[in-house]
Amino acid sequence: MTIGVLALQGDFSLHSKILDRLNVKNILVRKKEDFDNINGLIIPGGESTVLSLLIKKFNLFNKIKNFSKSHCVYGTCAGAILMSKKCDDNKINTLSLINIKSFRNFYGRQIDSFTKNITINFLKKKINVSFIRAPKFDCLSNDLDILGKVGDNPVLIKKENMLVSSFHPELSNSTEVHKYFINMVKNNVKSFK
Ligand code: GLN
Repeated sequence: MTIGVLALQGDFSLHSKILDRLNVKNILVRKKEDFDNINGLIIPGGESTVLSLLIKKFNLFNKIKNFSKSHCVYGTCAGAILMSKKCDDNKINTLSLINIKSFRNFYGRQIDSFTKNITINFLKKKINVSFIRAPKFDCLSNDLDILGKVGDNPVLIKKENMLVSSFHPELSNSTEVHKYFINMVKNNVKSFK
């Protein structure tokens, strides 16, 4: 099993390091052919406007959309914004992989970034995670699994083989959210055998 980390811009190298630490084979994804060799994809945080332009420039928009039909995709922060059905900023050409609307920089500017202990449904202990110019997500339907919240705002959402978080799990001491995604990919690989 190999997980791809979209490596056009943003925090891709830390995701790759965490997968290395968890002994999960991974590659950096930059071109269409890379999709032939992966079973799941992480779209990292960074700058969604830039990522959106680069996805278009490298002709990866339809590739990612098609890949998502039969594979697991996890988007963190800017990655989640790109996976959204809608975004409050119409400069972003969203991939529409999950039925949420993202509101960019909802908690303020870089200086307003924060860390927080959050409760995740599948974990016994709280984990401390970073919100860096994080988006807010509105669910556009009630069939989404909300796995974590801050106040009333969902911050970790799953729908079938799609996962999004508004925080950066790669900056946390806990690798549990990555492990959760790795399991999603493993189960999906099994179901295709
Ligand atoms: N605010 C950024 C954006 O809208 C996301 C920041 C991040 O990924 N940490 O793209």
